[in-house]
Amino acid sequence: MTLRINSRGTQVVQLQRELKAAGFNPGSADGAFGNNTLKAVKAYQKRYGLAADGVVGPRTWNKLLTDGKKPAGASAVSRPSAAPGGKRVTGYVNGRARQITVAPVGNGKYMRSDAAASFNKMKAAARRAGVSLPMVSGFRTMAQQKSLYAAYRAGRGNLAARPGYSNHQGGLSADIGVGSYSSRAYKWLARNARQYGFVNDVRGEPWHWTYKR
Ligand SMILES: [Zn+2]
Repeated sequence: MTLRINSRGTQVVQLQRELKAAGFNPGSADGAFGNNTLKAVKAYQKRYGLAADGVVGPRTWNKLLTDGKKPAGASAVSRPSAAPGGKRVTGYVNGRARQITVAPVGNGKYMRSDAAASFNKMKAAARRAGVSLPMVSGFRTMAQQKSLYAAYRAGRGNLAARPGYSNHQGGLSADIGVGSYSSRAYKWLARNARQYGFVNDVRGEPWHWTYKR
């Protein structure tokens, strides 16, 4: 369902919740698409390379749903079940399946346990510096990567790696809601992430950080 300024209802509530979970501020989740929600939508679209028109159509929904929550009736790629957490899961590294252990990193997301421990330390240090590092996408199952890849191939989503070959599938990459390269959060990461083992390793994606230890 396409939402725009002056839209109302439960879909708008869900949009506002998704924006909040991604680190944006649409105002209260009151189901009324007003100016605060419009600003948050435009900022979100700008961050993710979508047309920043403030209209929430299939592409914007698809990106919002990257974090695994599907508003009822949204016309977007169907979402697989949530990644299992705090236990052994099947991850993929360089196309090969392997069992990995994942742990929570906030916003209902997971990373491989060692990466998660380091990420959580980094997040705490950032918070002490007044910088928030909201998690937008962490570990992805094969089903999740397949649906993102299909969306990308169909021109409906951001660049996504071939299924089996995304570092998100090894639990090693984090998409962090940092805004642009000129944001305070990005600059903090550029100065500090390396000591926690994280490197910004995809050109044009200030949000994508990979654990390289
Ligand atoms: Zn990523």
